Amino acid sequence: MRILIDMDEVMADAIARFIEWYERDFGIHYTEEQLHGTKLHYIIPEAHRAVVKQYPHQKGFFANLPLIANSQEIIRELNDKHEVYIASAAMEFKYSLGEKYDWLDEHFPFIHWKRRILCGDKSVLKGDVLIDDHDFNLSVFSGRAIMFTATHNVLDTRFERLNNWLEARKLFNIDTP
Ligand SMILES: [Mg+2]
Repeated sequence: MRILIDMDEVMADAIARFIEWYERDFGIHYTEEQLHGTKLHYIIPEAHRAVVKQYPHQKGFFANLPLIANSQEIIRELNDKHEVYIASAAMEFKYSLGEKYDWLDEHFPFIHWKRRILCGDKSVLKGDVLIDDHDFNLSVFSGRAIMFTATHNVLDTRFERLNNWLEARKLFNIDTP
């Protein structure tokens, strides 16, 4: 089985970086709970919006992002049993390409470069399964589309769901070690 796995909000916690930089620049701390069903740039004052939207364009935004819980161990198990590809958009934000590559080397060195698809539009990708947090990627995928739960998508009921990585063991019949 060929399984395509997204990076941001599935393997790497980019929302944590938005919260961190927003607090750095404006002195206001948002919690993940406050972001349920929405995104930071929708709930902050309009005067701050342009600054926040520029964050991913800046050098360092995608560097050293925290890991999504249990992603390393479960993706390793999936990779041992299935054909795992990492599929991440990395063209919109210039520095994301190199920073994502380095991040994979550090945290997922077992994912061979041939299995890393750092791309533009994911709709060209083919596989049996796509695990992603964004509806716009899942809705154009021809295989089994699985929504990985992130704060912004908790209210979406249109897709099969993976709420966390531990649930993947049951979903993909991986024996618990
Ligand atoms: Mg994502």
